Amino acid sequence: MCRCGDMDKKEELAKVAEEVKKCRKCGLWRGATQSVPGEGSFDAQVVFVGEAPGFHEDQRGIPFCGAAGKLLDKLLALAQLERGDVFITNVLKHRPSGNRDPLPSEIEACRSFLDRQIEIIEPKIIVTLGRFSMAKFLPNALISQVHGQPRFVEFGGKEWIVIPMYHPAAALRNGKIMVAEQEDFIKLGEFLEKINGGGEVKVEKEKEKEEQLKLI
Ligand code: URA
Repeated sequence: MCRCGDMDKKEELAKVAEEVKKCRKCGLWRGATQSVPGEGSFDAQVVFVGEAPGFHEDQRGIPFCGAAGKLLDKLLALAQLERGDVFITNVLKHRPSGNRDPLPSEIEACRSFLDRQIEIIEPKIIVTLGRFSMAKFLPNALISQVHGQPRFVEFGGKEWIVIPMYHPAAALRNGKIMVAEQEDFIKLGEFLEKINGGGEVKVEKEKEKEEQLKLI
């Protein structure tokens, strides 16, 4: 766990980004223009985790800067947030060619970077965008059943609040998902307001939820 001050957090995140740049643990760097470690506030209350850089992200080195990213900016506004307030990153830090799905071996090779980013920032909430980032925290969940619902999840010896959400690209393809996504971001804003105001929030423990589902 990072017990660092603000300056240390900034430096620690920069160190992760530097290591990502030089990473050769899987073969993705070969086909990529550059790495996309993530960007945003080292002091973020919310960390958003997508899947992997796409074409535009690979060109610019910035996460979610294409069509899905434009939608993400609008969704953030529904939660009363801006890019500068949050930290945005991906499960994979180099682009898989042709935007194919990440391989399990690539996810494993990249895992420690995301783990460290989360441990350094220590956000109040982790929002997963899409099934690959959701699977890291809620491996048995179905996105259609759990989207928008906060869960306590144990990870790295600590309990984190994880809110799984649809990937913005899925919302762009499907009108019903778009409506659900917008509602989930509005709820995220309300949830943040409550926890910052010391209000009571209902968060289920993922382990207990899984046990309940086994009984049904
Ligand atoms: N899709 C993702 O999952 N991440 C990005 O950074 C861009 C598109």
